[in-house]
Amino acid sequence: MTDAHCHLVRGETRHLLCEPFVGEASRLAAERDVVFYGTHPWYLDGFDADALRARLAANPQAGVGEIGLDRLKERNISPRMREIFEAQLRLAAEFRRPVVLHGAKCWGDVVKTIENGKWRMENEGGRIPAFLFHGFSRSGGLLPDIVKLNGYVSIGPAILNDHAVNYRELAKAIPEDRLLVESDATAENDAEVPSVRDIAAKLAELRGLTAEALEKVLERNAEAFLGVLNKHE
Ligand SMILES: [Zn+2]
Repeated sequence: MTDAHCHLVRGETRHLLCEPFVGEASRLAAERDVVFYGTHPWYLDGFDADALRARLAANPQAGVGEIGLDRLKERNISPRMREIFEAQLRLAAEFRRPVVLHGAKCWGDVVKTIENGKWRMENEGGRIPAFLFHGFSRSGGLLPDIVKLNGYVSIGPAILNDHAVNYRELAKAIPEDRLLVESDATAENDAEVPSVRDIAAKLAELRGLTAEALEKVLERNAEAFLGVLNKHE
């Protein structure tokens, strides 16, 4: 089972680990794990384009993430937040790496920013092969855009909450070939956050699939999202 978005290793078969990482570096990147480098919109002071470029050049199996926009901490998206997001999209395109996106309370804006393409390189050539919409909880209206961008949506722990009616509707509406599951585990929430197995079991029940059938779908989708990064094809 692949945890499509987390910040530390927790014992799943495969972790897609995004910066900021927590835990000892030695626990990162077990054989099947995939690492994503990037500056999260909450930690913009740490952004250094040259350093990111050097890391991507040195790590051909790494993706870019989590990057994006955020309106959870502040009401307005600052020009600097947007600039740093676009700079990182440009690097992902230059190196043709998949991207893990953050878009709390501003998913429409994240999609629009990608679609308007101002971040694209002058002389083209580069391309972002796939996007993961992590923590996505908007209703289904953006799904056609997400599919067009070769986007995947990872379903998280909220699906286990019986009151999360809208989120469960979303989980049923996502096209089957776009589905992933994530814990978004960090050092702070590690003890409370359920395993992606529990999340997948609930998702299977909601979509009327057996756990085994859904697991096959999820693994196929994880491979497709990782594409060129996948070392185990
Ligand atoms: Zn995260």
